[in-house]
Amino acid sequence: MVQTIVGANWGDEGKGKVTDVLAEKSDVVVRFQGGANAGHTIINEYGKFSLHLLPSGVFHQNVVNIIGPGVALNIEALLSELEGLTSRGVPMPQLLISDRAQVMMPYHVDFDKFEEERLGKNSFGSTKSGIAPFYSDKYAKVGIQVCQLYDEQILRERLEIALVKKNALLKELYHKPEIDIEELMAHLKVLAEKIKPMVCDTTLFLHKANKEGKVILLEGQLGSLRDVDHGIYPYTTSSSPVAGFGCVGAGVSPRDMTDIYCVTKAYSSCVGAGPFVVRMEGEEANELRMRGGDAGEFGATTGRPRDVGWFDAVATRYGVMVQGATEVVLTNLDVLGYLDEIPVCVAYEVDGKQITDFPATPTLMRCKPVYEKLPGWKCDIRGIKRYEDLPENCRKYVEYIEKVCEVPIHMVSNGPRRDEILYR
Ligand code: GDP
Repeated sequence: MVQTIVGANWGDEGKGKVTDVLAEKSDVVVRFQGGANAGHTIINEYGKFSLHLLPSGVFHQNVVNIIGPGVALNIEALLSELEGLTSRGVPMPQLLISDRAQVMMPYHVDFDKFEEERLGKNSFGSTKSGIAPFYSDKYAKVGIQVCQLYDEQILRERLEIALVKKNALLKELYHKPEIDIEELMAHLKVLAEKIKPMVCDTTLFLHKANKEGKVILLEGQLGSLRDVDHGIYPYTTSSSPVAGFGCVGAGVSPRDMTDIYCVTKAYSSCVGAGPFVVRMEGEEANELRMRGGDAGEFGATTGRPRDVGWFDAVATRYGVMVQGATEVVLTNLDVLGYLDEIPVCVAYEVDGKQITDFPATPTLMRCKPVYEKLPGWKCDIRGIKRYEDLPENCRKYVEYIEKVCEVPIHMVSNGPRRDEILYR
């Protein structure tokens, strides 16, 4: 049985928390795309953690965590995240790394930085973790798979091919020092040895686990609107955070996918560049930003203040649709308790018309939000343990969002902690 947790929006929907909750009832948690470029905030009995590359099942001893072949594996980042957990009292998790995952090279991170510098104000809002150069190399077939780290001759040949181009760019375009292959080989050798015990054929492992009836949880990073095909291109990531890609990036069969949990916040938040129709400015935005999340809406990886706005029904319905969600999980509902009335963006206005279907980027750039207002509930709902005990207007808000998403909501999160979750 394969369940998938993905985001409906621009990322930061609270997927980490939901994965941490569902991991309790799972056997395996798999990351299937992206790298250390996004952060999942998890608050549990060990404290508060920001996971970037590690699957969110690492706090559960019985869970096998997997870095799937679709992930951009930054080995140093992974090792330092692991160290960050164990040094704070979390027992060493069970972790497997796909031998087919590709390695984020130091030069990918450098090229990401150099390219953003070169583009200046036309940049795409990269987190500068090397993601775009990594996936470019992967699909241009000059990437390095983890398994290739263990064959010196193959590794050298692969790097020689890649470095001809890299060094030409470094010299001519970026005016930076060239890469020395010997230094790089020595560096990779040390890293490869450190992860060796975790490297295996994770696709085979998952196939067997599924056959044995184990519960496999796929964990997406970012959200629908950052998908390289279905998102707000070019302000997207370079991989595919949609559930459908989960099969590819993790290595499971689409036949085995049962539940697709699509996470969305009770309002909107967005970090990074690109059109964000419901973006708010001024005091109203500051207030929501400071109240949002567990400690204000600031990027878990970059610390950048997130743009915020009211719930965007047009974008979210689209995001839920491209995920093929079987249910929506609504998070951060507690954040809205201060409002007399809660605006919801129900349509976009563009070229004198109102639209309710999410358009492609050039049209999206010209859209203005159309709001409807719902009554607020004016109280703190943290601490409430049963859905039925929520104030009536709060339940009505959930029902309203369920209706506009056109997919049922069974789980509602009323606080950042693991136990702050209500079931309908
Ligand atoms: P992810 O990348 O989708 O896992 O999301 P992030 O962790 O980047 O951002 C979600 C933020 O919301 C974090 O600060 C979480 O601690 C916080 N969070 C998650 N669920 C809730 C909730 O129900 N209420 C509140 N107040 N914060 C939440």
